[in-house]
Amino acid sequence: MSHTLPELPYSSDALAPHISAETLGFHHGKHHAAYVSKMNAAIEGTAKADLPLEDLIRTSAKEGDQGLFNNAAQTWNHTFYWNSMTPKGGGAPKGDLAERIDRDFGSLEGFRKAFADAGASQFGSGWAWLAVKDGKLEVRKTLNAETPLTEDGVVPLLTMDVWEHAYYLDYQNRRPDYIETFLGKLVNWDFAAENLVKSGQ
Ligand code: MN
Repeated sequence: MSHTLPELPYSSDALAPHISAETLGFHHGKHHAAYVSKMNAAIEGTAKADLPLEDLIRTSAKEGDQGLFNNAAQTWNHTFYWNSMTPKGGGAPKGDLAERIDRDFGSLEGFRKAFADAGASQFGSGWAWLAVKDGKLEVRKTLNAETPLTEDGVVPLLTMDVWEHAYYLDYQNRRPDYIETFLGKLVNWDFAAENLVKSGQ
């Protein structure tokens, strides 16, 4: 059983002008697709061929199989990232998620600042995350393909790709402008709220 590249949850021009169809076309059709096909090539005919993706990520991390981990984690991270954005995104979260953001970050502005700082201060390539651990919301950043999925008890709620390929065609070197747009216009609070409910935390 090989893994397939999931479709984008919206059309490739749906996030324009904030993220162009050109960026999404390359990012999903070339970068994400390459992670999926390299992962499939690495597991074909092995005992790992039938593992669910999340198990493959955790197993390759434990075994120190960096090549497989990179492609498997990037496969998962990108699908999670597409769902972390929506054409009608931005604004404010509602309900329990909103209350817990106020409780754990002081305010929505406090969250935005922590998340923007995580994304801007990730040197080189990586990801910024909203996650829940021990019932408390946290902002994290990870390097390259690393993902909070490999840490016991941590459940990711949202992510933002800060690899240059995520924003360079639209923002060139202006990563902070991309981050501000992600938070103001694209972030999918409903997806984060669903993930928080599913986490049981
Ligand atoms: Mn990417």
